[in-house]
Amino acid sequence: MTVDTCKVLMIFPRFNTDSFWNYRATCELKGARYPAAPLGLITVAALLPQSWEMRLVNRNTETLTETDLEWADLVMTGGMLFQQPDTLRIIELCRARARPVVVGGPDVTSTPDIYSRANFRVLGEAEEIMDDFVAAWQSGAEQGVFRAPMGQTDVTKSPVPRFDLLKFEDYLHVGIQFSRGCPFNCEFCDIIELYGRVPRTKTNEQVLAELDALYALGYRGHVDFVDDNLIGNKKALKKFLPALQSWMHKKKFPFEFTTEASINLADDPELLSALAAANFFGIFVGIESPDTDTLVLMRKKQNTRRSLQESVSKIYSAGIVVFAGFIVGFDSEKAGTAEGIIECIEDAAIPVCAVGLLYALSATQLGRRLLREGRLFYGHDAPSPQDEGDQCTAGLNFETKRPRREVLADYRAVLDAVYDPSTYFGRVRRVGRMLGRGKRRLKVPLPYMLRDARGFLRLALRLPAVGPRTARQFWKTVLDCAIHNPRALPFLCMLSALYLHLGPFSRRVIAHVDRQIEDIELGRWSPPRLAPAEDKELSVA
Ligand code: SF4
Repeated sequence: MTVDTCKVLMIFPRFNTDSFWNYRATCELKGARYPAAPLGLITVAALLPQSWEMRLVNRNTETLTETDLEWADLVMTGGMLFQQPDTLRIIELCRARARPVVVGGPDVTSTPDIYSRANFRVLGEAEEIMDDFVAAWQSGAEQGVFRAPMGQTDVTKSPVPRFDLLKFEDYLHVGIQFSRGCPFNCEFCDIIELYGRVPRTKTNEQVLAELDALYALGYRGHVDFVDDNLIGNKKALKKFLPALQSWMHKKKFPFEFTTEASINLADDPELLSALAAANFFGIFVGIESPDTDTLVLMRKKQNTRRSLQESVSKIYSAGIVVFAGFIVGFDSEKAGTAEGIIECIEDAAIPVCAVGLLYALSATQLGRRLLREGRLFYGHDAPSPQDEGDQCTAGLNFETKRPRREVLADYRAVLDAVYDPSTYFGRVRRVGRMLGRGKRRLKVPLPYMLRDARGFLRLALRLPAVGPRTARQFWKTVLDCAIHNPRALPFLCMLSALYLHLGPFSRRVIAHVDRQIEDIELGRWSPPRLAPAEDKELSVA
């Protein structure tokens, strides 16, 4: 190895296996191994000297071998909270083989001390500090910490990610990013701590160059804009969408898009129709709670003073499917919380709802408040989604205001009601009737079409295994859609395919919550140790 050469092995750590987000059964329908491709690592790969040799191993889709580690001069890894156990495992694997390891990503940035056994830690956004790391490495440094100023990185300097390192067939979708940061101020959110409240956007040319790169590599189909809130900077987005639309026309609609946005999107019909015209077909919205007091407490004021049902219905009218997040466990919740959430989900007709238990991340306003109030659990027996599952199975890492049993019972009731096959497919049917645009605009080559057709057949064959009621509901939904809005059928098939994962997953979470409730009732659960309010280690990194 000279200073100009280096063999870099990028290792994307494994997510905890049983999670709302991994959609394993749904991936299998299309022959994929995991929903999303790792965008962060391939962006870092593009920031390194291109004379360096690079390979990517995604532990969610393939096996990391001894030969991989032997090949590497340097290992780069890191990711989110739910990848923490595997990231730590990878660090130890590297140390045992004397391979220098660099860690970075959101969890490393929030809790760097946990990763102190890595040789190098890159904290914050990589764009402006990778050069410092490379210079240190080339001058022979064996360890170091590189810290970017929070929320200030100029994303217009971000290079086109190294999409060529991906095996596209392994994924349901590939991610790209237009902006970072969000102007809102939700108390539980770590995005605004990591990326700031002033959204920074890439240039139109930059994003179109990323799409050009994907197109040139032969990728077609689903592209996810992984922005924290795509509409955080509406002015820049409104300038970008016409450019995206004309790029899509010129290329004959090779992609269809999803993203994440705040509910105030519904207030802007111009923006909604521009998104639909650019071929956005799905949007994840954080609704969290239908209760105004709770929304005010969590500082999610953008969701108050509106009918959530009307807002969601406007998005459906534009031809865009809504996916939503809900959280149970806030201080202001009262009796009737479960009924309120169930009613909201049913009224708004949102089939896919990520319903989780509140989890206080240390680097958030919520984490700091609970620490001040002496209510944050601490130590190995505290619930922690980095150890198992996700916030569906391990939340409430603090002393709840209501009895813990009641909070868990409400959570269980919501899951039980919304993931029953008849209610789930009932909402899917209503979405089918409400979807405005209906027609799917996606021109993909024959192999992609055959993959979709095979996927539909597998879906029809596998749904009965979830339960006979599920299969009946699916065919009833297909028939209803064929009669009322046949062009919406591909979207309804997608929502039905997600139930292959969500139906059984919600049953497993319910069984888990039942055990927790039983432990409380039988006195087998005792609250974990509380973090001392003056514990600075637990406050923001
Ligand atoms: S709207 Fe979403 S990204 Fe923005 S602060 Fe709230 S939770 Fe975070």
